[in-house]
Amino acid sequence: MSDLMSEMLWFPVAIIAVLLLAAMWMMWRAQSYQRVSGLPAGKIVYEDVSHLAHAPLNAPRHGLRGKPDYLLQTEDEALIPVEVKSSASPTSGQPHDGHVLQLAAYFLLIEEALDETAPYGLIRYRNRTLRIVNAPQLRSRLLNTLRRMRTQLTADDVRRNHTQTARCARCSVAHACDQRLVASG
Ligand code: SF4
Repeated sequence: MSDLMSEMLWFPVAIIAVLLLAAMWMMWRAQSYQRVSGLPAGKIVYEDVSHLAHAPLNAPRHGLRGKPDYLLQTEDEALIPVEVKSSASPTSGQPHDGHVLQLAAYFLLIEEALDETAPYGLIRYRNRTLRIVNAPQLRSRLLNTLRRMRTQLTADDVRRNHTQTARCARCSVAHACDQRLVASG
């Protein structure tokens, strides 16, 4: 074989080898991410935590718009929303109510925007992952909450609904709130 022929063959072989290595590296990265994060096996089809971030999901009928941290597609093709929290799970072993409602909102968004039904969702706390079932009672609770929020948006006076000073300390409208639990900076 002439030197020219050898050089012509070497180039495509090198390209194929590089592509194979890149594919293997991406597969290893996805699998190790799922091992470390405690997520079930499946394909990540949507994410909001990196340069790959997708557009928000919309449910205009309900005035709802949002981005789950991840949407996983399991081996049986189910779509599973995953919300990742940096905090540890509550010591009660039960998720925070607000986090459950957040998943309920993703269930609704997945139905409206993607025409799919998620059987359950996951809240990934720092120390454990909790599974929330997409149940009709949860949907009713979400719709009631959305109704209440819409009413309160137009009300003259809305009472504080929590006793968490940390929440007021982080609040961006604390300076204008007469029910704040911390001194206004
Ligand atoms: S400062 Fe007012 S609006 Fe902000 S979290 Fe506290 S009570 Fe709610």
